[in-house]
Amino acid sequence: MQSRTDLVEGLMGRFPQVPREAVVKEDLLRGGVAFDDSALTDNDGGDVKPKSYFIFSFDHRTLPELGTAALRRPPEEIVLTGGPYGLRRTVVSVRVNPDSPYRVKEDGDGRLRLFLENRSIADVGLPPMPDYYRHALANGKSVMEVAPTIQWGYLIYLTVFRVCQYFGVKEECQYCDINHNWRQHKQAGRPYTGVKPVEEVLEALDIIDRHDTAGATKAYTLTGGSITSQVEGLTEADFYGRYAQAIEERFPGRWIGKVVAQALPRAEVQRFHDYGIRIYHPNYEVWDKRLFSLYCPGKERYVGREEWHRRILDSAEVFGPRNVIPNFVAGVEMAAPYGFSSVDEALDSTAEGLRFFMSRGITPRFTTWCPEPTTPLGKANPQGASLEYHIRLLEIYRETMRANGLSSPPGYGPAGPGRAVFSVSSFMDSLPAEPETQPPSRA
Ligand code: SF4
Repeated sequence: MQSRTDLVEGLMGRFPQVPREAVVKEDLLRGGVAFDDSALTDNDGGDVKPKSYFIFSFDHRTLPELGTAALRRPPEEIVLTGGPYGLRRTVVSVRVNPDSPYRVKEDGDGRLRLFLENRSIADVGLPPMPDYYRHALANGKSVMEVAPTIQWGYLIYLTVFRVCQYFGVKEECQYCDINHNWRQHKQAGRPYTGVKPVEEVLEALDIIDRHDTAGATKAYTLTGGSITSQVEGLTEADFYGRYAQAIEERFPGRWIGKVVAQALPRAEVQRFHDYGIRIYHPNYEVWDKRLFSLYCPGKERYVGREEWHRRILDSAEVFGPRNVIPNFVAGVEMAAPYGFSSVDEALDSTAEGLRFFMSRGITPRFTTWCPEPTTPLGKANPQGASLEYHIRLLEIYRETMRANGLSSPPGYGPAGPGRAVFSVSSFMDSLPAEPETQPPSRA
């Protein structure tokens, strides 16, 4: 049987134009990593920034199955350098899998390293506890709970609605554990606010603003579950819009404002823009028509794929195509029971979607699918998608972008191996080195 090392090194050999950093990163993101107890954090009392569980669990086991990692959180991210592959600085979001062939542990010299099948392949750096995490809100809530930061501190992630109104197997996206993640944190007695009050968000942002003296935080994302009826008497656009409005009134232009929401009608999208949001993410999830209807049944039923795509194009007229950045979940194209069984077919379909958007100046981006164990697709595909799919997708993405005269999307930090901070896929690590692209400032 082929070892994981053989798989990784075989792909590095076959696709030398894909940075080696991206091969290791994609494999860690799709399959997770184990931690020795010595590599865990001391939660909010230590020197290492803990994993915040900012929206989904992004773990390969439920909390009760994580052992010590459920009590002492793993770090939010790790940064890899050096080793036999000579890795340049690579930031990787942490997805815990106690059975992974990758393990972070101390080497004989007391330094943390990443091991693959018991061979050290990289030095591991941990994110320092940011100063703003050491200050609580007046009601005692932590900044990490209300306004966690990811991407090595670049992005403030504001999941202001921690559940989704697409509920149950007939409506939830089949790879999404947002509702389960809410339940498991509640059951573990962790603070996990369902709807974050606007005032709490502003207070947490104020703490970040005062204590992030280096200006490391550059953007915020407003997001959460879909709203099909109302939350606190508000429809989706009004609910998320009220945070945008309040943040931009209080901190005008301090951060690049982004909203991840459904593909909404143009008039509602216009309100986000009017409030000062600069980037809109109406995520299309998976391109293939049949898979969209099967794997995103709620979105198909309430909006429908064709209407979803139409609204994405409409929103480009509001924000400008560069500032509409719909996400897809890379890998679910290959998920059993309905996904493509061949890498070529899955990539052909994904590439068709990329061409559809990029030929219109819209730059999609993707996160690497984590097969969370409580989701239907995670249960059916515990190993995730093939690593070859993920590696070849990076090439196709870069090539389609080049063919359409596009560069890295705005609001993601610098691009290129050794420079990228985007942690939940390696698309930014695989693009040519470029300084950060900025969206236009407010009119
Ligand atoms: S719309 Fe789908 S992916 Fe988004 S939170 Fe709801 S179930 Fe999850």
